[in-house]
Amino acid sequence: MIPGPTPVPETVLKAIGSHPIGHRSKEFQEIVKRTTEQLRWLHQTTDDVLVITGSGTAAMEAGIINTLSKGDKVICGDNGKFGERWVKVAKAYQLNVEVIKEEWGKPLNPERFRTILEDDDKKEIKAIILTHSETSTGVINDLETISKYVQAHGHALIIADCVTSLGACNVPMDQWGLDVVASGSQKGYMLPPGLSFVAMSQRAWKANQTSNLPKFYLDLAQYQKASLKNSNPFTPGVNLYFGLEKSLEMMQAEGLEAIFSRHSRHRAATQAGIKAMGLNLYAEESCGSPAITAVTTQGIDAEELRKAVRERFDILLAGGQDHLKGKIFRIGHLGFVNDRDILSAIAAIESTLHSLSLLRSELGEGVAAASKVLN
Ligand SMILES: *Cc1c(COP(=O)(O)O)cnc(C)c1O
Repeated sequence: MIPGPTPVPETVLKAIGSHPIGHRSKEFQEIVKRTTEQLRWLHQTTDDVLVITGSGTAAMEAGIINTLSKGDKVICGDNGKFGERWVKVAKAYQLNVEVIKEEWGKPLNPERFRTILEDDDKKEIKAIILTHSETSTGVINDLETISKYVQAHGHALIIADCVTSLGACNVPMDQWGLDVVASGSQKGYMLPPGLSFVAMSQRAWKANQTSNLPKFYLDLAQYQKASLKNSNPFTPGVNLYFGLEKSLEMMQAEGLEAIFSRHSRHRAATQAGIKAMGLNLYAEESCGSPAITAVTTQGIDAEELRKAVRERFDILLAGGQDHLKGKIFRIGHLGFVNDRDILSAIAAIESTLHSLSLLRSELGEGVAAASKVLN
């Protein structure tokens, strides 16, 4: 029950366990062709979705270095660990970074983006860069609204980390006008780590023509060129592609709407269960991520609780990062997760708190509240 690597279905594991095939073979090209179409479906786009063999951060970095140029002014939203990462990547390439910061656990305020964009008469801002679902705090940012303000500006690109929102809630790339969408295989895709995905709009490709940041392995123009021939510029994670085809088939069989509503039910059930057992949500309910719920333990050592839940129930919860270590724990409900997983996790936490004499409610109230939501 961590937000990544997430559980992998057996059909996907079996596909990955097949013997690798030549990445220039006709057989493999067929797989690339099919997965490309499936990826467009998942991103709700007619534009390119390119596959990089690397972790999610590779897709983030690729998004920046393929669309921007030295000294470009960019605005990064930062309300958690992954917002911070965007700032670090942008600074590593010596972009002129301005940060819109928000306290951890709170969503980014879209109005701050609107103001800064409206005040940019000289159209100096080249990109707005942010994280959609901030995994470190369990907060979902209002990407749709911020994207509207970027469209109104007319010049800046919008580059989004959708690593824990894609495949969990609606991210209609074309409809929202997103220019770069980055994601990674070990999250909503129900795959092991190793592949990352970058979707690029026409506007992003236009910016690519003049982008002068250094790039080689992550040069997306090479990936696009190869993609036209259903191929890759380098040797991709061939076996992960076998799994990708299967996991996307599973997603297509379930349907986007059903996937989104499953995640939102699981978020609601988790929130209800946590509150009913007397713990507090770290992020406000209204901005809770569909992928992960962060819980404040109020005086209880979250690391001790995590350890006890793992030892007794073999359920792994995520801890807090940086200053939140020991203060919060996080329940992932992303990807291949069903009602049983949610009830088991809530029951395990509740029972463990009870066994440690730390439960602040009657035993069973958490599970009852979660069940009611699921039912
Ligand atoms: C997991 C994650 C990433 C990617 O991290 P990698 O370790 O590089 O795969 C990026 N952003 C968010 C919000 C994530 O949850």
